Amino acid sequence: MVLAAAAAVALGIVFTSSSEDADTEIRIARPKPSSTIEGSSSLSPTPTAEPAAPPILEAVIHGFRFPIDGACLPSREDFMPNAPREYRWGIHEGIDFYDGYNCVSIPRGTPVLAAKTGVVIRADHDYQDITAEEMDALLTLAQQQGYTDPAALDRLRGQQVWLDHGNGIVTRYAHLLGVEAAIEEGVVVEAGQVLGYVGNSGTPEGISDPNLENHLHFEIRVGPGYLGQGLSPAQTRRLCEKAFSP
Ligand SMILES: [Zn+2]
Repeated sequence: MVLAAAAAVALGIVFTSSSEDADTEIRIARPKPSSTIEGSSSLSPTPTAEPAAPPILEAVIHGFRFPIDGACLPSREDFMPNAPREYRWGIHEGIDFYDGYNCVSIPRGTPVLAAKTGVVIRADHDYQDITAEEMDALLTLAQQQGYTDPAALDRLRGQQVWLDHGNGIVTRYAHLLGVEAAIEEGVVVEAGQVLGYVGNSGTPEGISDPNLENHLHFEIRVGPGYLGQGLSPAQTRRLCEKAFSP
């Protein structure tokens, strides 16, 4: 937790709630753009380059494998963390793996793999599908509030598995079609172990059509925040590339 807290400080994240799952309640103090780049001099040809993400995060967040076999980061920026999600008046907190955008075919039912060795802290074996009425109520409330509250956001992630990797780092696997029977709370899983299967649970489109919106929503949580929080698209992508590097 110490590392996560330090990382949060490095990110300039201001926590306004003590809830561990206060996804959208976190306000972010965006780092001011620096006019000088560390180590640059008059000889440096890159005065307009993006500053690197906070070094502590790059040092801590690495060694993950992709949660879909053979996948890569999404080609679209709106599948990355911090992208707006207008339908629920919120911000995207993870990385989406859709068929056709992540280097590999990802049809409904594709195995979802543990991104790193960890302990299962949540496995939704008794998941209840969202009804059209509940979805309508959730999205209406989000619109009235102007944001997605943590409880609503949790429902909108659908059927999930969460893994704890220590030091305040947790990965979440969302919109699952199903969870493997062996994946129970407290079980240690190895990187690459099958956790569940790609589905569309928790998506508005998934209520009416099993063929729509099938994808894996994958989050790397850092303490009460998420990887990339408060950073620019370029910084976020760089940080995610680091995460999936040795
Ligand atoms: Zn997503």
